[in-house]
Amino acid sequence: MTSLNAAEIDALDRAHLWHPYSSLTAPPPAYLVRRARGCLLELDDGRTLIDGMASWWCAIHGYNHPTLNAAISEQLSAMAHVMFGGITHEPAARLAAQLVALTPAPLDKVFLSDSGSVSVEVAIKMALQYWQSQGQPQKRRLLALRGGYHGDTFAAMSVCDPVTGMHHLFAGALAEQLFAPPPTAGFDAPWDPAWLNDIGHQLATHADELAAVILEPIVQGAGGMRFYPPAFLRAVRELCDQHGVLLIADEIATGFGRTGKLFACEWAGISPDILCLGKALTGGYLTLAATLCTTQVAEGICSGSAGVFMHGPTFMGNPLACAVANASIELLLASPWQARIAAIEAQLREELAPCGDFPGVAEVRVLGAIGVVEMKQPVDLATLQAELVARGVWLRPFGRLVYLMPPYVISGEELARITTALGEILAHY
Ligand code: PMP
Repeated sequence: MTSLNAAEIDALDRAHLWHPYSSLTAPPPAYLVRRARGCLLELDDGRTLIDGMASWWCAIHGYNHPTLNAAISEQLSAMAHVMFGGITHEPAARLAAQLVALTPAPLDKVFLSDSGSVSVEVAIKMALQYWQSQGQPQKRRLLALRGGYHGDTFAAMSVCDPVTGMHHLFAGALAEQLFAPPPTAGFDAPWDPAWLNDIGHQLATHADELAAVILEPIVQGAGGMRFYPPAFLRAVRELCDQHGVLLIADEIATGFGRTGKLFACEWAGISPDILCLGKALTGGYLTLAATLCTTQVAEGICSGSAGVFMHGPTFMGNPLACAVANASIELLLASPWQARIAAIEAQLREELAPCGDFPGVAEVRVLGAIGVVEMKQPVDLATLQAELVARGVWLRPFGRLVYLMPPYVISGEELARITTALGEILAHY
């Protein structure tokens, strides 16, 4: 295979390729990455960028990790893929056992799918089929938190924040869900009973038609990078039980240590009825997601009129993805991940704090390996990114949010280069 030079790749890219949330007629710059190793992205022109994004939060062990590479190679020599209908294999069986062991009890049934958004679709279908099986088919609406993000497919879009999400674009085509505000207070805020006024009222009023509450536990990611107190999550769990509504926790962004706990639900000591995992599940190597549910939900679904759960993607349980997920989870558990995340958290707190004094900055907040600088005005992505790249740093801000979610293996020195670059640049915004 002859390789293409940078100009040829750029021309083909501009002619044919969509990038995420982008225009094909006025495309923003796309940086040409040739290799990645550790926490470094290597550009075609030889420059290296320190990655503060972990490729949209999934590359927790960094890039080109020998253990993960070996896991894929070994599996590849056995089989890359085989259908999951009527067939099973060791990587999927091992992964299911690992996920059940690690996630809060009593989640013990696992549905594997391709991506985070699909795992959310699966979770919503599970909730609806469960209530059908209970003779309550009218329970098919969802209650979501404002400021949430759950993916780009249709049911997932319907539970994203109704203002900042895509509701205006697809009005009429999206299921009409209910929304309640999360606490505006941050992670450490003392309990305030007023947090439950709206959500408590809606649950009481709409319990008859509600299948589930869906939320991102503790950290709302792409909907605004906000953190809320564990006590709120605990109270929502109690309200769901009280009103006979299932709880779906979307831990696609928070799972596998990002917030300082293996799963963010642990901050509140709760377990959802249905749990979505993705992103860091494979250490950022391959696309894979999982939807876990309790035996009660699973048995309900299978006792219903269909007798089965009606979903079955072509690439369900892909062996390569399961093999690398197993290796990634083992690597994570064998590493001092709590200490690493605590160190990243402490460094982010110290080094991002000065940004809080800049005139253009509204707030700085940090939790686990997540650092957020919220600006007063939206930033121009292309301009800010060019300034960061000029300083050897890779971040992808959105709206008013400039944030870091680095690989857990980032060194103190690498992290300091990112925070220094941010400090220099944001001082002038
Ligand atoms: N839920 C949450 C909380 C997410 O952060 C994301 C992705 N940013 C998704 C769902 C959708 O995942 P995917 O992009 O893999 O479809």
